[in-house]
Amino acid sequence: MKFIKFLLIAILLLITIMLFRTLTLESKQLDVEPIKISGFDADELAQKLAAGLQIKTISHRDPAKANIAPFREFQQLLKQQFPALHGTLELERVAETLLFRWRGTDANAAPIMLMAHYDVVPVQAETQDRWDFEPFSGQITDDYVLGRGALDDKGQLYMIVAAVEQMVSSGFQPYSDIWLSFGHDEEVGGKYGNEAIAKRFEQQGVRFAAVIDEGGSITRNIVPGIDGRVAMVGIAEKGYLTIQLAVEGVGGHSSMPPEQTTVSTLAKAIADLQAKPFDFRITQPVEKFLAYTAPELPFAKRVAISNRWLLEPLLISEMTKSQKTRATLHTTTAATMLVAGVQENVLAKRAEATINFRILPGETRETVLQRVSEVIDNNRVEIQQSDGFSSDPSPVSSVDSAAFTAIQRSIREVYPNTTVAPFLVMAGTDSRHYSRVADNVYRFAPFDLTGADELDGIHGINERIAIDSLAAGAMLYQRLITHLTAPK
Ligand SMILES: [Zn+2]
Repeated sequence: MKFIKFLLIAILLLITIMLFRTLTLESKQLDVEPIKISGFDADELAQKLAAGLQIKTISHRDPAKANIAPFREFQQLLKQQFPALHGTLELERVAETLLFRWRGTDANAAPIMLMAHYDVVPVQAETQDRWDFEPFSGQITDDYVLGRGALDDKGQLYMIVAAVEQMVSSGFQPYSDIWLSFGHDEEVGGKYGNEAIAKRFEQQGVRFAAVIDEGGSITRNIVPGIDGRVAMVGIAEKGYLTIQLAVEGVGGHSSMPPEQTTVSTLAKAIADLQAKPFDFRITQPVEKFLAYTAPELPFAKRVAISNRWLLEPLLISEMTKSQKTRATLHTTTAATMLVAGVQENVLAKRAEATINFRILPGETRETVLQRVSEVIDNNRVEIQQSDGFSSDPSPVSSVDSAAFTAIQRSIREVYPNTTVAPFLVMAGTDSRHYSRVADNVYRFAPFDLTGADELDGIHGINERIAIDSLAAGAMLYQRLITHLTAPK
């Protein structure tokens, strides 16, 4: 009897604590006055972007194979379209990356870096006929500007230059220096553009107060339970690693095979990797995402998030149900390519597989390789890191910085009632190079991706940007520059 009484009191206490934590969860959204979008001619901006989308600035992994002519053509176009910016800011070309410097009134104030890139990925031949329009035609419809690069990432570039053009024309001068860096090789790793630039800043001892690049955007229906807009601001990005697995054999006739062939040995190694996925963990960017979205959720969902101390396993199991949220909780393993064999009745002399990992903050390329060899645990399987691009996860930027507040404020001025949510970017951006010169690196482009299928455009088909989003984005950058470079 006494025990049951004790149990009841314990349960009651637990419920009280949980309720208390749920009900006292305070919104982290800033209370700001909405601002009217003005000073930008949306149609003019759409036409300028459309002209930029017609230029095929496709980057290539081998710089010798890239055609430079379109990059130069794009630079000329930009100069023509934004004369005030080009007349006031200093421009340096690093390879074909454009590095602008807008001098501030206080030379000692820590500078700000705004980034975008103007190289694009090619249109894959097998998807060509699924496009509803010619990818490089730069058409304009009632609501959209259409074309490869509209979202990734010329749209962002045009928002930035439109804001600067307008501010320069109206006589505004920032307090601290503002640098604009428009990459020409982001899609192939950024080695000759922003990696080189960031290294040079490091050598010069320059530290940035904030770096803002692509990575997040304004979305809807991404967070179950929040009906309105959610602005996703990346505070970290995952690392990237590709490995080759290879099994060597002697070949021969398939009528008298060994117990395990090169192909079956390789298949087992892949199956082992898939069967033992990397551990699920809630890292800091995901924790911040939950902290910023939870107070905006309906009561029932809030209970689990505000009582993570008790319900974390439940929360994780809930989040692993969807492919998208699962990827935010662990280092992902994706077998992407297989090469083996030439004929049905001949044993393959060599079998090879390519596996791509996206690494969670807290782990590194080295720890991933280590674990892969432990899991496969078979010395017939060679494990080799691929020669191509790789990177460790970025550090996690703070949500308590002045820069993050400025981003949040600008978003809610232009897009009132939008929930701002820090998050972990799954893909890679050029901003990763800047963690050597800045603690506050954020990944957000003010694309309003609340229309149908818009997200599919990035590296996919029917890429397009809403014309309204373009003007709002320019406005947002204008607010951002104002807030970021206000005298302290
Ligand atoms: Zn991009």
